[in-house]
Amino acid sequence: MPTALNPQLKRALADRIRYYNELGIYDFYRRETHAQIQIQPEQREPLPKAKAAIISEERFEVTARPESAIADPAQALRAIREDLGDCTRCRLAKQGRKQIVFGVGNPRAELMFIGEAPGADEDIQGEPFVGRAGQLLNNMIKAMGLRREEIYIANIIKCRPPGNRTPERDECETCSPFLMRQIATIKPKAIVALGAVAAKTLLAINAPMMELRGHWYDFRGTKLAVTYHPAFLLRDPRQKKEAWKDLQMVMKELGLKVASQTT
Ligand code: URA
Repeated sequence: MPTALNPQLKRALADRIRYYNELGIYDFYRRETHAQIQIQPEQREPLPKAKAAIISEERFEVTARPESAIADPAQALRAIREDLGDCTRCRLAKQGRKQIVFGVGNPRAELMFIGEAPGADEDIQGEPFVGRAGQLLNNMIKAMGLRREEIYIANIIKCRPPGNRTPERDECETCSPFLMRQIATIKPKAIVALGAVAAKTLLAINAPMMELRGHWYDFRGTKLAVTYHPAFLLRDPRQKKEAWKDLQMVMKELGLKVASQTT
């Protein structure tokens, strides 16, 4: 039974919702703790119980997102970009970023790769994964039998942190609502989180990469897999075969032919 709010509480709530909308947040989630978020125990190693027992979420939208009435995903993505504007919502706006790196690719992609943050090359070119890590990601995409233009690539945060430091938690929290809206617009069949920052932000799980990868997760109704960040693979190429196993799991899900090749 819904409870009636008194006018003062109603006004305070409306102010708070307006404030969140200005931050790009339109979806609110009622969280139930201690529910399983893992949907398919994968064939390889099971995720330890303690790590799997995190959250189930019930989404509700109080005010409509600006893009929610737009049927064409390309146009809806443009509306999200417009809403983001020349963003100054976090400190990175004043810490030397050259431009916002929104995301690139097919607005109807079946597969999305999500990295951590733009680096120096991405900051200059305004496109995610165009530097050395991007070259390796391109090879990974090719090995899957896909073209870069067929998928969508974005990052947890859209501005380069100074010196490529790891994004702070509050930066991820401030920026990621726009990524959530990009995901909700594109509606991919599968998401691949590249590295720990992407995985931990999207899944709200604090676990080592070794435990995070090799499983399917339910991310707000979309299947999500975790694999190593290409920058990590450049530093430790021996892990490429593990990453390839993760990508093969994704290929199987997308109905792509699984070949026995490494990147
Ligand atoms: N690393 C990332 O996480 N994202 C990029 O766009 C480039 C490098």
